[in-house]
Amino acid sequence: MNLDLHCHSTASDGALAPAAVVRRAAAHGVEVLALTDHDQLDGLAEAREAARAAGIKFVDGVEISVTWHGVTLHVLGLRIDPSEDILATGLEAVRAGRLGRARAMARSLESVGIPGSFQGALRHAENPAMLSRTHFARYLVEIGVVSDMRSAFHRYLVAGKPGYVPHRWAALGEALCWIRAAGGQAVLAHPGRYSLSAGAMDKLMMEFRAGGGEGIEVVTGSHALDQYALFAAVAAKHDLAASRGSDFHGPGEGVELGALPALDARLCPIWQHWEL
Ligand code: AMP
Ligand code: MN
Ligand code: MN
Ligand code: MN
Repeated sequence: MNLDLHCHSTASDGALAPAAVVRRAAAHGVEVLALTDHDQLDGLAEAREAARAAGIKFVDGVEISVTWHGVTLHVLGLRIDPSEDILATGLEAVRAGRLGRARAMARSLESVGIPGSFQGALRHAENPAMLSRTHFARYLVEIGVVSDMRSAFHRYLVAGKPGYVPHRWAALGEALCWIRAAGGQAVLAHPGRYSLSAGAMDKLMMEFRAGGGEGIEVVTGSHALDQYALFAAVAAKHDLAASRGSDFHGPGEGVELGALPALDARLCPIWQHWEL
């Protein structure tokens, strides 16, 4: 089965509306889709309805921004109940800092000769409260200071670069708690992106599991091919399930919906006990 359990819509930093993401997923052969917008549940109702119309299965999801020992991590909540108050309230608090951070990013970019990026990023965002580095990256591409999203991040938006402003997100324990309260399953997104040493990764996995985390992404648009095997081994070592998701953000940006290889059959998939 083609399951894609990680993607974004205009409810956070995706380029397509929730219903358009679902229709595109169906057209690309996805049979089970989770919409996992950053710190935001607003797109789920529209996507769920579109999935019904398109005849594919839909999973309510979210991708929570977490700060763990100074490192930003992303934790997916899959099969969450979006009406659960504990989760909704927690996410509200996580979102609260975005606008101030965006203003600080814009000031910082202005100091290196790029004015107007706050308004510019806003034009690419549906919801000002969800302003993300992705919206700044789209603006930097639009005005031609970089040629693509990748260089926008690399040159301006990652730690140590002029547009980067550190931010404090949710604590790991909190995020896991909210996901469990909403009846969901927690999956660590794209573990290969965090540049952790093997020791730090083990420490993270133990904490994640102790807090009720159930799986890690093995096949994701953020992993190079050799990282599939690496994180399959990490999943096996820590007795965690494995997940697969494109992390689709928009046409022509990164990996297409449903397009990645299947999970290795020896792994225990996060959907093992789902009725599909
Ligand atoms: P934010 O939550 O505002 O810090 O933005 C994080 C988002 O930026 C991620 O969800 C990705 O969509 C995107 N992103 C982060 N790093 C990169 C990168 N190196 N290349 C492309 N997109 C990235
Ligand atoms: Mn994103
Ligand atoms: Mn992510
Ligand atoms: Mn994502």
